[in-house]
Amino acid sequence: MSILVLGGAGYVGSHAVYQLIDQGFPVVVIDNLQTGHLGAVHPEARFYQGDIRSREFMRSVFEKEKIEAILHFAANSLVGESMVEPLKYFDNNVYGTQIVLEMMKDFSVKHIVFSSTAAVYGEPKEVPITEEAQTMPTNTYGETKLAMEKMISWCEQAFGIKYVSLRYFNVAGSREDGQIGEDHNPETHLIPVVLEAALGKRPAVTIFGDDYETEDGTCVRDYIHVEDLIAAHILALKLLQQGGESSIFNLGSSQGFSVKEIVGTAKAVTGIDIPVKMGERRSGDPSTLIASSEKARQVLGWNPTRTAIHQIISDAWNWHKQNPNGYQR
Ligand code: UDP
Repeated sequence: MSILVLGGAGYVGSHAVYQLIDQGFPVVVIDNLQTGHLGAVHPEARFYQGDIRSREFMRSVFEKEKIEAILHFAANSLVGESMVEPLKYFDNNVYGTQIVLEMMKDFSVKHIVFSSTAAVYGEPKEVPITEEAQTMPTNTYGETKLAMEKMISWCEQAFGIKYVSLRYFNVAGSREDGQIGEDHNPETHLIPVVLEAALGKRPAVTIFGDDYETEDGTCVRDYIHVEDLIAAHILALKLLQQGGESSIFNLGSSQGFSVKEIVGTAKAVTGIDIPVKMGERRSGDPSTLIASSEKARQVLGWNPTRTAIHQIISDAWNWHKQNPNGYQR
């Protein structure tokens, strides 16, 4: 029996595949390589290139492989793009998940660990954010992830599918051995953008607004190391395998860093005086997002160990420095 990783050639999905294989799980990967990279697929995973929206393709994989559980990372995930191309997000994310659930029903697969996001909460009323906070997305991306969560939970009632939805805060860093890392095109996330500026791949980092109600005026986010994040997925998988109930967990480091603090730490890590310029606020950006991850610690026994921002940025830097062109080596 294998674990099926949907989106296993992407940034977060590839880190999941590596950790699963480290722990001895047989892994099957599906990815359409729209944003993923062939070079990110673990050589020991059985890889099928195709789209989760294709019933025929999905059926052919489920017929060939004995799938025990699914880790679902296959989605479009850019907030800005989701606002100008909302239907692309509903199609790939929501409809894609419908086909995944159809396959689970038809092939009696009962367990799914789902990659969700803090964007389901929208502008928080209270910080830190617990799983009980109201869900009110302020962008299409968050709306589609919430719809996917709900679709999965209705399938629990109807077909007995058990799920764990993991709501990520700001994921960063990369595997310490530098084998895989983050490579988006275009890159929009703060830490890789700052490191690209350090490498001279872009002229400067633009700080999106310094008039927020935070200590230094720039937005505060909760950065979580991708390896800690994936450790929680494997604990969630084991919980389901042991007969645990369906559940939702926030995943963050429960500490906030401002954009200016990230740039300052990146300067210290790289030893490079990264050029910075001030820009306008980016629409839809809440000022402060910090997770309460108490529930994951209590229920999953999750114990993130790479929470120091210096380590998160230095692992990311290790990858960027060695792979300045990402997977196009
Ligand atoms: N940000 C920035 N300049 C950039 C990219 C991001 O100032 O080039 C800020 C952004 O406004 C947000 C924070 O950095 O406050 C984190 O943004 P990112 O896109 O990495 O993640 P998000 O919090 O939007 O999921």
